[in-house]
Amino acid sequence: MTDRTAVELRRAIAAGEISAGDVCAESLDRIERRAPLNAFITVDPERARARAAMIDADPEARQGLLAGVPIAVKDNICTKGLRTTAASRTLEAHVPLYDATVIERLEAAGAVIVGKTNCDEFAMGSSSEHSAFGPVRNPWDPSRIPGGSSGGSAVAVASRAVPIALGSETGGSVRQPAALCGIVGLKPTYGRVSRFGLIAFASSLDQVGTFGATVRDVALCMTVIAGRDPRDATSSSVPLGDYVAATEQPVRGLRVGVPRTLMVDGVDDGVRRAFDESLEVLRSEGAEISDIDLPRSRYATSTYAIIVTAEASSNLSRYDGVRYGTRATGADTLADMYARTRGLFGDEVKRRIMLGTYVLSAGYYDAYYVTAQKVRGAIRQDYERAFEAVDVIATPTSPTTAFRLGEKLEDPVQMYLADFFTVSANLAGIPAISVPCGFADGLPVGLQLTAAPWGEEMLCRAAAAYERLTPWSGMIPPMPRA
Ligand code: GLN
Repeated sequence: MTDRTAVELRRAIAAGEISAGDVCAESLDRIERRAPLNAFITVDPERARARAAMIDADPEARQGLLAGVPIAVKDNICTKGLRTTAASRTLEAHVPLYDATVIERLEAAGAVIVGKTNCDEFAMGSSSEHSAFGPVRNPWDPSRIPGGSSGGSAVAVASRAVPIALGSETGGSVRQPAALCGIVGLKPTYGRVSRFGLIAFASSLDQVGTFGATVRDVALCMTVIAGRDPRDATSSSVPLGDYVAATEQPVRGLRVGVPRTLMVDGVDDGVRRAFDESLEVLRSEGAEISDIDLPRSRYATSTYAIIVTAEASSNLSRYDGVRYGTRATGADTLADMYARTRGLFGDEVKRRIMLGTYVLSAGYYDAYYVTAQKVRGAIRQDYERAFEAVDVIATPTSPTTAFRLGEKLEDPVQMYLADFFTVSANLAGIPAISVPCGFADGLPVGLQLTAAPWGEEMLCRAAAAYERLTPWSGMIPPMPRA
């Protein structure tokens, strides 16, 4: 049953053809069988079964938009009474006292949360290897990374343990793992989805995003979680679109811009081939493809590195063992206690805190942080200009397919370059989607489409139309089917 889409499952449950309880049991069983992929940090079968039973017992609840649909949630999104670690030793024993707004909305729509997924510690990374709970593996080739930081959520969907999952995005953490695992991932406009209850990494960039095997499932999940939340002052009251209806519309007349100059080097041949073919498919259906220029986007990775580390160093200062987080034992003095407690962070988190503290320090603030903010503004302006002429911008989601576990672990700069095509959307605050567009050497490749602010409907339309014309969405990795 979990091979079915969320849309199909929900229909069958509402019609009484199958029970939420049976779907939940199958999902839990799949999670257990897929344990070697290490996609989950915490699974709570009791809680999930109880929720499913509630849906089955209540005819009204069975009509919810996600009634009885099993969902996996990245472990940096707070779930009341269900451990939430951000994949960090610092929060190893953290059991939230409240639900994130997105969780409240999912449950109000009848979704059944089956567990919390593995990720990079505090969402910092592109491979899901920086986790205190061990690395996540890619179902297409378990010797490879699934992408990150929301790798566990992507794998939960790609391996069909659940039809949809939540991740978080700061610089590509939903789109990049979606691409590397052969599924769909959407990062909404900044402010479209509430951040209340999302453990902060870089607050001016963070958004909750959604994974699904199809664009329609992603659109459905977005419909449930999006919208103004009084508990997040940065959430917007711009009216929501009809994302699901948008998936029915054709692409004829759609204007697609391609920033060719950003793609001169560093893009794998196989990725480039799949990308070029995807443009041909869109063109054959009546989309107009043209070249555009995003001149300042080539500075995006460096700009992002400064802003993201600055905000991370500030956000993570709260984990001092006094106000928040596990307190390390065995210290003799206060300074020793702080040092040991902060020593609980993994290497990548420490690296970012140190870099962020440095770029914010009195002597370097203007040279680095202020300059990065100016470049961020310039990157946004380039997009504004581009969207006067085109409806969506197309690039590969990731310059490469999934790399081997350990391959980039010792070389942070190589790891950061994996985000080359994704970070600009976060810097500009605009929405972007990754949709499967083929394979290179047996590994999935993703097509990224970016739109103007509040352009989620446009993305759902374009990505779903592309999906209808190609066989790539919904492909299931060769693995034990039980
Ligand atoms: N890979 C990027 C980083 O390491 C993005 C992370 C994210 O989007 N959470 O910061």
